[in-house]
Amino acid sequence: MSRTPSRRTVLRGLTVTGTAVIGFDTAARTWTATAAEPGSALARIPGLDGTLVTDAASLSAAADDYGHIVHRRPLAVLRPGSVRDVVAMVRFCNDLGLPVAPRGQGHAPYGQAQVADGLVVETAPLAAIGPVGPHSTTVTVGAGAKWSEVARATLAHGLTPPVFTDYIELSVGGTLSVGGLGGQIHRHGAQVDNVTALRVVTGAGELVRCSPSRRPDLFHAVLAGLGQCAIIVEATLRLVPAPESVRHYQLPYDDLETFLDDQRVLVQDGRFDYVEGQVHVDAQGAFRAYSLEAVAYGPPVGPAPDDTALLSGLRHDPAGVQYTDRSYYDFLDRLAPLVASLKEAGFWTYAHPWLNLMLPGSAAASVSGPLLANLTPADLGPGVILFYPMLKERLTTPLLRTSDEDVSYLFDILGATPPDDTATVERLLAANRSAYEAAAAAGGTQYPVGSIPFTPEDWRDHFGPAWPALEAAKRTYDPRGILVPGQGVF
Ligand SMILES: Cc1cc2nc3c(=O)[nH]c(=O)nc-3n(C[C@H](O)[C@H](O)[C@H](O)COP(=O)(O)OP(=O)(O)OC[C@H]3O[C@@H](n4cnc5c(N)ncnc54)[C@H](O)[C@@H]3O)c2cc1C
Repeated sequence: MSRTPSRRTVLRGLTVTGTAVIGFDTAARTWTATAAEPGSALARIPGLDGTLVTDAASLSAAADDYGHIVHRRPLAVLRPGSVRDVVAMVRFCNDLGLPVAPRGQGHAPYGQAQVADGLVVETAPLAAIGPVGPHSTTVTVGAGAKWSEVARATLAHGLTPPVFTDYIELSVGGTLSVGGLGGQIHRHGAQVDNVTALRVVTGAGELVRCSPSRRPDLFHAVLAGLGQCAIIVEATLRLVPAPESVRHYQLPYDDLETFLDDQRVLVQDGRFDYVEGQVHVDAQGAFRAYSLEAVAYGPPVGPAPDDTALLSGLRHDPAGVQYTDRSYYDFLDRLAPLVASLKEAGFWTYAHPWLNLMLPGSAAASVSGPLLANLTPADLGPGVILFYPMLKERLTTPLLRTSDEDVSYLFDILGATPPDDTATVERLLAANRSAYEAAAAAGGTQYPVGSIPFTPEDWRDHFGPAWPALEAAKRTYDPRGILVPGQGVF
């Protein structure tokens, strides 16, 4: 064939190159490829700056994620060479009613970034950062940039985004679509609360800039909006001065209520820059040992840490206090050695039937207590349990749901199970569901980064007063409902 390739032909569902024809058979709902080189499954589509791939390895990779529980195979994967590519392919899919999901680092554990018989848009190539200089108050980054890359680029100028997830190899778009929680929340809110503007591609294929003052309905529907209305392609993030070093304390507790209460005191009096905590097994093998993790930033952000002042009034076991001084970046990247060892041991490819709950402060102990009492070390496997508070007054993003109380606690049982042990995975998923119901009955909800079976009715309850605005934005910006079916919201 000797037709001249053009963007229009892409949008009609047929693309012609000198070597291959890639089209979409709307009746059979499959791509059609006639490659000049037999067996070639990779098509470089004219009109795209990147590539659309349909080879088996790429489709299988897109049908898997960090959870290794759900597998939905797409028809194709877009590796965009530009934002224009995202626009072109979303329009293409919107015209045909094909489902689409963006995928950052694929660390969602329950199929959230997967799409059966549709298109996965990998955002990793959209990872530009900057410009940034010593006086910048914001930085604009591609949605596929990882937080580790953003940190390195801004720290070169003594600046940092104020809030980080514990693991920093996640994409900016991926965490902004869920919330982005970390131990700095009591000071700065979540990552979504520190975004000043976004550039997004809506489900209708429109490239739009939005902010709190420009198309605010879209802005507020995208942040923590689970990708339902638009794909984030660029985000402008707030920056603050970075400390050079930090002092990182681990304070042991043997009583749940005392541990939770001291954490609450710390987030309310704000003496530390970061507050989190973990639950461990005690000498009897029960989940009754607690570790409060608190970090004080040093100069130029804070004074040299004063242990006596920082720890005064806390009820931990003073004999067990540990602290380390480390550079700020090493602190942000503190999970790297653990992740490397989990990968080496083969645990990274385990199934991750994660439970992530938001508990109201008044019921944090009564809901978590029975869940911890019934948990076995075997069920947790090579995983961790996180438990830490957040202040409602700092969380201003409508779609990031917590309880209605002033203080909510994030309670995460982050287990890992051999993926072929499907009976255990199913049992843990059912346990997650029961745990969610106990949390919801007490006025809590989930933090939607885990593996909890959820229905559209559950989502309506989850979003509560924010639901009508999300539903209206969905109708306006993704009228054919093509975006991110893996979340199961609509
Ligand atoms: C080891 C580990 C540690 C974690 N630690 C934390 C933590 O400390 N705090 C915390 O808050 N979370 C944490 N998470 C959860 C994590 O923030 C979310 O799962 C996040 O969505 C993963 O980012 P990702 O780039 O892998 O996204 P993906 O898994 O690729 O995508 C997640 C969802 O977001 C959508 N999405 C992805 N990119 C975009 C985009 N550009 N625009 C719109 N929607 C998009 C996808 O379609 C999908 O529905 C952790 C997860 C893991 C595996």
